[in-house]
Parts: sequence; C-alpha cells; structure tokens
Amino acid sequence: MLFFCSRSQGLTKKRVGTLDMMYGAMELLTKFFEKPQINTTTAMALPVQVAIYVPPSSRSVIPLKVKQMQVLDVFQYDTRLNFVHWKDTHDPSLRSWNRAPAAVCRGLASGKLQFQPYFLPVCGSSPPGNLEISFVPVIKTFALPDGQSLTNVKASSKTFRQPVLSSVLPPATVSHVSAAHWKHFWSLALTSVQRNVGYRLIVGCIPNRQFLHFINPQVFDSPLCPVCQSAPYISHHLLFHCPTKEKIWQEVIFEFLWPTTSINDIKEALLSLDFSNIWYCQLAGITPYRIVLISLSQIWLAHVIFIFDKTSIHHTAIMATIRSNICQTTIEEDKCHSLQ
Ligand SMILES: [Zn+2]
Repeated sequence: MLFFCSRSQGLTKKRVGTLDMMYGAMELLTKFFEKPQINTTTAMALPVQVAIYVPPSSRSVIPLKVKQMQVLDVFQYDTRLNFVHWKDTHDPSLRSWNRAPAAVCRGLASGKLQFQPYFLPVCGSSPPGNLEISFVPVIKTFALPDGQSLTNVKASSKTFRQPVLSSVLPPATVSHVSAAHWKHFWSLALTSVQRNVGYRLIVGCIPNRQFLHFINPQVFDSPLCPVCQSAPYISHHLLFHCPTKEKIWQEVIFEFLWPTTSINDIKEALLSLDFSNIWYCQLAGITPYRIVLISLSQIWLAHVIFIFDKTSIHHTAIMATIRSNICQTTIEEDKCHSLQ
C-alpha cells in the first residue's frame, strides 16, 4: 500500500470497499518520495516492481514476470562492500525467470529503466545499520491533510477517510441534471462507450493527467495535456478545448448542427443532459443529441488510442468515423421506423 506502483497486484482480487478506501486515502496523502532511506534488509524484501520504474523519456516495458519477482530473487547483498547489487546474469538462480532478469538488467544499464529514489541509497556503499525490516522511513514521508506526519499521529480510520471523502464530493454539474433528463439519458439506446463518456463527464470521472501527476510524478512528469503540451490536462480540455478537438467540434457543428451553435452550448447540453438548445439538425432521421454523443464518444476513443497506442489524433480521420457512425445510426433508425 505504501508503494503506488505495486498496488495493481497482490490484493486486487480481494479488494473490497475498505481496502479501496485505504488505497484511495494513501494516494491522496501528500508524500515526499525523494527522502526515505530504507535499509538493505527492507530493500531485499521489496517486490522488484517497487524498486524500479520506467522514466517518462523511455518506451521500455517492464517484463510481466517482474511482477512476481522479489528484489532478493535477482539482487544480492555484498557483505564486504555493504551494498546491494544485481546478481551475475549467468547465476543459476536466475534461470527460472527466463529472459526477464537480463531484460531488466539491460534496461537499468542503459537508463531505460531506473531505480526508485528510495532504492538508490542501498545500491551504494553504506554501513549495514539496523537489519530489521522497517518501513518507518517510508511512512514518515506521508503527511496528513493537516501537515502531521503519519508516525506522529494516532490516526483513526476517520482521519484517512477524510481525504477520500473530500476528493469525491459530487461535482456541481450533477445537481444541474434534472431527474427527467437522467431518465431520458438512461432510456436512450446508446453504445457503452457513448453512455460511459457522457456519464463520466457529468460525474467528473474522466481520467486526467493532473491526478496521475499528483500521485506518481516520476512516471507522469507533467500535468499538461499530452497532445498539445500547453494546457492543464483536465476533462474539458481533453474532450472540447484541445486544439484538435475544437477543430472536430467546429466541423461537427458546421456539418450537422445549427451553424451558430457553440462548443460551449454543446458542453452545457452534455453536462445538463438538456439538449433543448441544440434542437436543429441538418440531417433527417437523427436527433442532435445523438450526433453530439457520437462525436463525444469518437473523440474519447481517439484520445484513448493516442494515450495507449501513441497513435496521433487526426481530425480528418475522427471526422470520418463520426460521419460513418452517424450514417449507420440514421440507417438503423430508418429501419426501426419502417418496422413500426
Ligand atoms: Zn491539449
């Protein structure tokens, strides 16, 4: 729980509400990862995944097998020189891990993988000191919202719950949606992506780089938009105001909606689920809110593909998929009407 990078394993299957809340609370506490100085015994007991990371400049992928490795599987402690070092790559104990240790070793040697700052001191010569496993130095780096260190305070579960609860206050936008509009939204025949992104936008759950930067600044080194690098990466920027996305919305308006409709009109309609201001559509057989939701979902999909596959965002390609989705929907609605 103390190490963000290892939380995806171990307890995942057993994660229940309380544990989720504790994970959430740890992520939201202020921390200073540069400072902790763990001893060699503690370092050897860590999972390898916690000792290394992929720096933002590198495209390296940590081999899957590494998730199962402990530091002591691939490192050894030199009692003469007092430091932890990588085992010889021909060491017979590494054989069971196939090529994973060599890949990590190469990554570390070339700088494509790096040691976490709290692991680095044990790789340099230092007196062994206390040999008990202790995470106190790491715990000391966390601070509660009032600035107190976790080691100085007798914190109740309420203290931990506070940062989580304060971070999940329902956004004001939720109160702008009337019950009738919600009901209408749930009654629409939408694809899961269209519904998902519309819902996430209203409840403020679009993943964003600002939060990732806060909880793991070593990997997410900037809170700025990864597409244009010029604005904070928040959901409204990602979906509406990033220059490429603005261009797409303008084309959607020009091609399908009333020409004086603005991007803000669309944003307001999506946030309130009240589409009464966007009532005109240049195409017969399709409602304007469908056009807006189709466009939003395609922008979102293109963005996800950009983040995970590094495929650049081309507004002409996205416009083509929006057109084909709109065309498909019109045909389906026509078929529905002819069946009635
Ligand atoms: Zn941008």
